[in-house]
Amino acid sequence: MNYRHAFHAGNHADVLKHVVLLALCDALAAKPAPCFALDTHAGRGLYRLDADEAARTGEATDGIGRLLAAPVREPAVARYLAAVAACRRAHGADAYPGSPWLLAHALRPQDRIACCELQPAEADALRAAFRDDPRVAVHTRDGYGAVRALLPPRVGVVRYARGLVLVDPPYELQLEEFAPALAGLREGLQRWPQGCWALWYPIKQRRALAPFQRAAAALPARAALLCELLVRADDSPLRMNGSGLLLLNPPWRLDAALGPALQALRERLGGAGAEIRLEWLRRPA
Ligand code: SAM
Repeated sequence: MNYRHAFHAGNHADVLKHVVLLALCDALAAKPAPCFALDTHAGRGLYRLDADEAARTGEATDGIGRLLAAPVREPAVARYLAAVAACRRAHGADAYPGSPWLLAHALRPQDRIACCELQPAEADALRAAFRDDPRVAVHTRDGYGAVRALLPPRVGVVRYARGLVLVDPPYELQLEEFAPALAGLREGLQRWPQGCWALWYPIKQRRALAPFQRAAAALPARAALLCELLVRADDSPLRMNGSGLLLLNPPWRLDAALGPALQALRERLGGAGAEIRLEWLRRPA
């Protein structure tokens, strides 16, 4: 496995994923019951945008860099920028938060977070980043296997009815990664039907994703929402032109919060041919 998220931290895809992740966490944390979060492909939890890897691609410049250049008032994007600012206050001016850091930031003392990372060096860095946070458990293991092993969530005597699973694979196998991801969602929904699920996916050409979307619509979820940001026209199969999240059983009215956020992100991060999409594959009953 060659993928290292440090090359891509803070790019337009991270921005979309992390805005949506925080909106999900805030909706879950609005009720007092404890939540459980599983991050199946967690990465190292914390990145530096002045590191060689990030400098080599420069991807963050057209992602978080564009948002930091001028304030954004839209609430969900402003919420994300406040979280990045909090991360920088804690870890330095060039820090960028990964999904485990954002989960730990947004969730509460009564909540629990399980993070899985297959690469030992990344998992070790993640464990070190959270060694003082007893809410966070780090597992050096396959994230899909963790869906089977860790769900339905139970910590000691506490069983969690509320929570979320973020599935954020590296797509090194390109379109072939969708098969294990969809199988993981199907199995996970059977094990924990109350959970909210978020599967991130890259978009090169949208039309290539039609089989994935048909399969997603057939998953046994109560509701399924697609949330996509194309930062340029999807006319080249050779590069990532945008990304999306498949949200299963999203919290009530999450779509209303995400609509304006997507528009703000298109305005700031998009160029010619940029598009957004917020579409129910299955509406909540
Ligand atoms: N979720 C992170 C974030 O938003 O900050 C980024 C994760 S990155 C896209 C994907 C990560 O999954 C990489 O760190 C990679 O090493 C790890 N990985 C790859 N295959 C995995 C697997 N089967 N199970 C768990 N982790 C895996």
